Amino acid sequence: MAALQSPDEAADVASPLDVPQEGVYEALFREIVTGKLAGGERLMIDDIAERFGVSKIPVREALKALEAKGWVESAPRRGTYVRALSLSELHELFELRMIIEPETTALAAHRRRTVHLQQLAALIEEGEAAIKINDFVTSSRVNLEFHSLIAEAAGNRLAYDVIHDLELRLARYFFESEWNERSETAHEHLAIYEAIRDQRAGDAATITRNHLRHTEAMAARSMKDGKSNLKINSPARPLGK
Ligand SMILES: [Zn+2]
Repeated sequence: MAALQSPDEAADVASPLDVPQEGVYEALFREIVTGKLAGGERLMIDDIAERFGVSKIPVREALKALEAKGWVESAPRRGTYVRALSLSELHELFELRMIIEPETTALAAHRRRTVHLQQLAALIEEGEAAIKINDFVTSSRVNLEFHSLIAEAAGNRLAYDVIHDLELRLARYFFESEWNERSETAHEHLAIYEAIRDQRAGDAATITRNHLRHTEAMAARSMKDGKSNLKINSPARPLGK
């Protein structure tokens, strides 16, 4: 499943997480989504060009495209930075999820095909295995794919595009963040899956609503306690340090 690519791209290209050969845009995008480039980190064109072995032109173009999509920001005399993480953005993302995901999950309960159920079940298994060995990166990727796949099962392309984009933006808040409660979210995913499988649309929406509330509370607590690796207010630092 292609979870980390922009919805504009062909649907059957492998996830950029696994692709060694990729353009500057895709490489930077992946590093931002997975938190390798932290929020607030300064992006130096010369350094990036050298790191990827390319000229400055594709780097400049990639940064412009990333800025247009809200992944990086730039200011005169301050340069270009990875967009900072914030509690207010976290809340905005969950507010929008709360509006569209419960009903989208209900649609998925009506419209899902066997292939969706098989893929959802496989993701749940992969997520549980990752939690057991504290592999937060895999756990975060699986969560992102799980919710995107539900949107795909709902058979509404626009809903998929919106939810997938929200998931990618949220991924930055989840990668490598150490929650003790990750296993609880895994149980909730199982309950959502069962409701979709059994075509209980009302339950699917209700469980999703509770799951989103719970997940937002955990993410916000994790940010406030500083228990995650999130660099909320970190000063800008050179690329790669
Ligand atoms: Zn979830």
